Amino acid sequence: MRLSRYFLPVLKETPAEAQIVSHRYMLRAGMIKQASAGIYSWLPLGFKVLRKIEQIVHEEQARAGHIPMLMPTLQSADLWRESGRYEDYGEEMLRITDRHGRDMLYGPTNEELITDIFRSNVNSYKDLPLTLYHIQWKFRDEIRPRFGVMRGREFYMKDGYNFDLTKEDALHAYNRHLVSYLRTYERMGLQAIPMRADSGPIGGDDTHEFLVLADTGESEVFYDSAVTDIRLGAREIDYDDKAQCQAVMEEFTSLYARTDETHEEAAFAEVPEDRRRSARGIEVGQIFYFGTKYSEPMGANVVNHEGARVPVHMGSHGIGVSRLVGAIIEASHDDKGIIWPEGVTPFHCGIINLKQGDAEADAACEALYKALEGAGLEPLYDDRNERAGGKFATMDLIGLPWRITVGPRGLKNGVVELTSRRTGESEEMPPEAAIARIT
Ligand code: ATP
Ligand code: MG
Ligand code: MG
Ligand code: MG
Repeated sequence: MRLSRYFLPVLKETPAEAQIVSHRYMLRAGMIKQASAGIYSWLPLGFKVLRKIEQIVHEEQARAGHIPMLMPTLQSADLWRESGRYEDYGEEMLRITDRHGRDMLYGPTNEELITDIFRSNVNSYKDLPLTLYHIQWKFRDEIRPRFGVMRGREFYMKDGYNFDLTKEDALHAYNRHLVSYLRTYERMGLQAIPMRADSGPIGGDDTHEFLVLADTGESEVFYDSAVTDIRLGAREIDYDDKAQCQAVMEEFTSLYARTDETHEEAAFAEVPEDRRRSARGIEVGQIFYFGTKYSEPMGANVVNHEGARVPVHMGSHGIGVSRLVGAIIEASHDDKGIIWPEGVTPFHCGIINLKQGDAEADAACEALYKALEGAGLEPLYDDRNERAGGKFATMDLIGLPWRITVGPRGLKNGVVELTSRRTGESEEMPPEAAIARIT
């Protein structure tokens, strides 16, 4: 992309309403614009990051054998009356009446809708196990929308639902989700720690939230610091292997790590004192096993091996896709701007032309641009007729992992300058060497 042809409305001033760094940088870098309280337009740069995150989620769900689909944002109230949640859900649910006087709602989550799809189509244990998911906009009329996309009212969420014959199978689905989520977050350059949590209005017994440690997080968490040393890394996972998924789940959830809702002083006191931590965290996902909570009232039954009709065991599993954009920035920035992890960066590399209009510099930038594209990367070429200082500030703000600076002086010696956004280190080298380093 050539910056002169892009839409990147960078703000010079820090917007007064933004209280936390991710919100400030998302506004300043022209990633989002508020449409109304807690509702945002995703401008091209923000949209690109959102899509990258979404893509990683899809890829890891595919690896786990979960099946993508798409359900609507608007739902009929009738299904929620069946499950008993229409009244229970309270003020967070945006209720709408259509022209025929029918009660509708903008879905805050999809247990009812998916259970209805399941019961209309599946009758036998032979069709199980089944896990369906979608990534779709949700609406919750949050009492205090704030922190930009971190606590929006309209937000983008991955929600998946498993249907299993037995509790044991459903717990395998739970473990499968836990493991696939670990990989999902790690690919985004994030450490998200599974912590024992409270189930809230979804209901159920087994649940973990995934928390990114950050001072600006809204959750209070307590954990054994040893839990921050564990990584899934590159290990091979066979998602059909119940024992392996269970072992990974136990490895990641055996040490003390809980949100304040489930925190117990007595249990925490057993953690060695020098490893006891209390901190703040951002909830970027949650997994639940809730058994037959929806299948029973809604009649989602299957015929089992003995020919009896039994309610299916279910769970639901969410990732805050739009919240992740903010969470990643909270976890990775400096005082100049965002520092994107490679996995989610909107562009791989910025090119800065120090002397736009200089025939040699222009030609070298064009050649670099084509070569990077040829190598399958997405460069962002700042080809505007602007001062170098302004170009550097914009690149630092939008946080691409690499910057290549091209100017007449270096070109005389056959070199460009390659700079890492994370370390700030610069090195001069021939253009080909810079390309080789990045790819
Ligand atoms: P929170 O505790 O932050 O209100 P939640 O527990 O109500 O979140 P879930 O029902 O578990 O949310 O939804 C799954 C995920 O969706 C959450 O883990 C979070 O990452 C994301 N999410 C929930 N509410 C919002 C929101 N208002 N804005 C952005 N993302 C959200
Ligand atoms: Mg909530
Ligand atoms: Mg929560
Ligand atoms: Mg939650």
